[in-house]
Amino acid sequence: MDAAEFRRHGHELIDWIADYQENAERYPVLARVEPGDVRRRLPSAPPERGEPMEAILKDFHEIVMPGVTHWNHPRFFAYFPANNSGPSVLGELLSAGLGVNAMLWQTCPAATELEEVVMDWLRQLLGLPAEFRGVIQDTASTATLCALLCARERATGHAVNRDGFAAGADGGALRVYVSDQGHSSIEKGAKIAGFGAANVVRVASDAEYAMDPADLARRVAADREAGLRPCAVVATVGTTSSTAMDPLAAVGAIAGEHGLWLHVDAALAGSAAVLPEMRHLLDGVEAADSLVFNPHKWLFTNFDCSAFFTRRPDELVRTLTILPEYLKTDHDDDVSNFRDWGIQLGRRFRALKLWFVLRSFGAEGLRERLREHLALARDFGSWVDADPDFELLAPVAVNTVCFRWRPGDEADGEGLDALNKRLLDTVNAGGLIYLTHTRLAGRFTLRLSVGQTQTRRRHVEEAWACLRDAAASLRAGS
Ligand code: PLP
Repeated sequence: MDAAEFRRHGHELIDWIADYQENAERYPVLARVEPGDVRRRLPSAPPERGEPMEAILKDFHEIVMPGVTHWNHPRFFAYFPANNSGPSVLGELLSAGLGVNAMLWQTCPAATELEEVVMDWLRQLLGLPAEFRGVIQDTASTATLCALLCARERATGHAVNRDGFAAGADGGALRVYVSDQGHSSIEKGAKIAGFGAANVVRVASDAEYAMDPADLARRVAADREAGLRPCAVVATVGTTSSTAMDPLAAVGAIAGEHGLWLHVDAALAGSAAVLPEMRHLLDGVEAADSLVFNPHKWLFTNFDCSAFFTRRPDELVRTLTILPEYLKTDHDDDVSNFRDWGIQLGRRFRALKLWFVLRSFGAEGLRERLREHLALARDFGSWVDADPDFELLAPVAVNTVCFRWRPGDEADGEGLDALNKRLLDTVNAGGLIYLTHTRLAGRFTLRLSVGQTQTRRRHVEEAWACLRDAAASLRAGS
């Protein structure tokens, strides 16, 4: 592809993306394909001869697009959001155009230094302690793995890195504590880091699904008594099922008393702390050793972009450092080489899209959009609460509403669960909205999470009308 052709198709594609972002709501939110539908339409072997861009783009529109679930659709209410924005996409485009590998300061000084600056901007926006240093990771899962590796190395005096896990674990298994609502990435990280799933201790949560600090204290004490080694605790600010908030201050006090590494998983809800009226969500974060939150979830920065902060950058670097001859530079003593702040060596220039977003929205613009999402979730929660045929199943702490349909005197149990599953399947098949579910206290729970950049009041109103209409027709048909 020569420059002229690149220019022509580049202009076309920018136009197409702009139209897509403006008109995403014309698509059914959830892809309407069956397993294998996309693959069946693709050749099983790579082309021998290069093909014209026109042919590739034609297939993109005809084969790929029907198999896309539209995460940036204004009526995407499933899981947690993964929102984006114009400035973010433009920053991503530049990053791809430059194609740098920001593994060392020297391999792209601007990437390293811009990342240091934007991460400090984020630190300030969230009101994190001044000593926290930030680095961009691909996902919260990776950031949590890094935190667990640091915890492991601190607890073993860096023996595991040196001698392997069996040597470092001398003196009892290392234990990781997380509430029974903690994200699956914590168990995955613990498995990869060699703790073993059996050493992930599930602490009880209270009636609002937040970690019970008394149960944490009891389990840590019992483990010590049994000769095991409490090592790390992960507190969640905004659990995946219901956005419950673990009590950071109380958990931090226990972590301090027992020398546990406290990692805060604020993957979604960290963004809300940009709002002064929501900053209380992070009260107690001063005691944390590390924290992660995802601008790629709810801060208008396209996937992937996860912000990892630690007050112990030296521990992080000591845990992850490698220095073969071919990576040495004359500046190693004076700069950050982010290859030592994460798992992989090569790194993308992600700071660019974050910089574009933070400058283009400004703190004010971010707050305005986040406030609107919070208000919409609160309003949806109040509609559910006021309807005798629906009920809330958890407090609406931030942007996500957990609820179910409960017509008449329908008793709790499998029948009600099945009814809600039918309601979910019906609305999702309709194409207008997309919701997902969880289980809270064993009950099948519908979730509506507000967080797409283009979501406005009418979209949430349409979701409520869609749910009520589907419930009415299910009832009429049953
Ligand atoms: N932690 C929490 C609380 C989450 O809800 C999620 C994903 O939704 C994750 C971690 C994992 O995020 P990622 O996909 O960035 O690894």
